[in-house]
Amino acid sequence: MPNVVIVGGGLTGLSVAFRLKQIRPTVSITVLEPRDRAGGNIRTEDHDGFRVECGPNGFLDRTPSVPNLVRDLGLSGRLVAASEGSRKNRYLFLRGKLRKMPSGPFGLLTSGLLSPRGKWQLFTEPWRKRRVDASAEESISQFVTRRAGKEAADIFADALVTGIHAGDPAKLSVAAAFPRLPLMEREAGSIIRGFMRAAKKRKQDAMSRGEPLPGPMRMWSFREGLQVLVDGLLASVGDCVRTGVRVKSVRRARGRNLTPQPPSLERKGEQDLSPSPLGGGVGEGFFIDTDTEPLTADAVVLACPAYEQAAILGDLDAKLADLAAGIAYNRIAVVALGYRQTDCSWTPDGFGYIAPQNTRRDALGVQWCSAIFPDRAPPGYVLWRALCGGVNRAEVADWDDDTLGKAVHAEMKLAMGVRGEPVFRKIVRWPRAIPQYNLGHIDRVSQIEALVAMHPGLFLTGNAYHGIAMGDCAEQGELVAARVAAFTESR
Ligand SMILES: Cc1cc2nc3c(=O)[nH]c(=O)nc-3n(C[C@H](O)[C@H](O)[C@H](O)COP(=O)(O)OP(=O)(O)OC[C@H]3O[C@@H](n4cnc5c(N)ncnc54)[C@H](O)[C@@H]3O)c2cc1C
Repeated sequence: MPNVVIVGGGLTGLSVAFRLKQIRPTVSITVLEPRDRAGGNIRTEDHDGFRVECGPNGFLDRTPSVPNLVRDLGLSGRLVAASEGSRKNRYLFLRGKLRKMPSGPFGLLTSGLLSPRGKWQLFTEPWRKRRVDASAEESISQFVTRRAGKEAADIFADALVTGIHAGDPAKLSVAAAFPRLPLMEREAGSIIRGFMRAAKKRKQDAMSRGEPLPGPMRMWSFREGLQVLVDGLLASVGDCVRTGVRVKSVRRARGRNLTPQPPSLERKGEQDLSPSPLGGGVGEGFFIDTDTEPLTADAVVLACPAYEQAAILGDLDAKLADLAAGIAYNRIAVVALGYRQTDCSWTPDGFGYIAPQNTRRDALGVQWCSAIFPDRAPPGYVLWRALCGGVNRAEVADWDDDTLGKAVHAEMKLAMGVRGEPVFRKIVRWPRAIPQYNLGHIDRVSQIEALVAMHPGLFLTGNAYHGIAMGDCAEQGELVAARVAAFTESR
């Protein structure tokens, strides 16, 4: 029975385990996770009737990967869609007040977000020439400035990047972070035209399949929070998960016949497990050093953050480790505050607001959690959560709880006109939260993949490479599971 070790029990690692078990039930799978619980960034906590998402707040149905995972786990009936208001009403906090994001071209024309010149530059985007030399990588702000003008870049591109990556639009690679945009420029000659064509094609495809016309993209969660997804995965693959085990290094194991060993295997010293030379032969197997006991495996999937992968790979391939170590992460603090409804000057029916990072506010944005999903706050209360820090204000995420709580409350007072003090507070810090696909990311990932190909049986995945959204992680999980299945089959 081939033996596969998955390092990291976040959404990606658990998805690999679940899909691999589906494809090849005979493979022995072990997921190693250092924390006392699996789920990685995904964690829902209940405190006095306030239901707090410590990491992601929901997932989008832009790709079918998470909806399919939810369906295959038998959890579709428990899904809840984000409220209609949260889909339509999104705000920016700019020049001292909340401003509703326009929902379409007419709204944009009549909104005061852009000057007449800014509007002209944005609306003439379809007639702007495509880039002649498309080979050089552009940052998000370079790309949007070139296509739609500096104002659109400073407001909308910054807001987009703040809301998704909490990153720097001048550093993030547009091709890595938003691959559809340069593709649209190449194929349709314009982003606006590209979006229109994509919408038309989605409708035509649905009609040709005899399906109802697709609605707008939506965000989803569960009434009990995203924890339901983690618990569902654990109900299916939990017997493979070993918590409290940190992997320290992975090396080639000498000797071919490692697979018949039971899962938790030889103790160091009981047999010679010294590494063999790099790339030394297909299916030699791996030796995995952990902070508890050593393990061996025919295939190893690293689904932990890139900086951990770098540390783990140092002995196996220093160049590969260096490349993985070069992927930067930002720092984020999630600050959830609960208020009495009577202390709020208005109860928003919307998603929340973003303060573009160039405005340098203490909160990058605020999600009105109890207006997005049901059961986030007890009756008569609201729950709002701010994301603080990011690439440009990293120091904010390090402020002590009282300073941070007060700063976020001050932002809520200013933006939302809240009068009373918060009745509930929960702060969660993510010292290395979201990987940043900075300029050079695509080239870095190609080099990583070329090197990984020299180590048969080694697979690198997680949110550091091909997308940070939950949908990307579930998609990568499926893809990698198929590759691992093929590898074990080939042996
Ligand atoms: C604050 C925040 C808000 C977010 N909001 C959203 C959102 O609303 N929607 C959305 O789609 N996405 C969101 N994301 C992104 C999304 O949550 C992540 O990209 C995704 O959950 C990452 O999953 P993963 O399994 O790749 O990595 P992780 O969740 O980081 O899991 C990696 C696992 O590896 C483990 N590990 C680390 N070191 C080792 C080691 N040495 N040995 C073994 N295991 C190890 C870790 O403990 C962890 O459990 C958000 C992320 C954050 C931080």
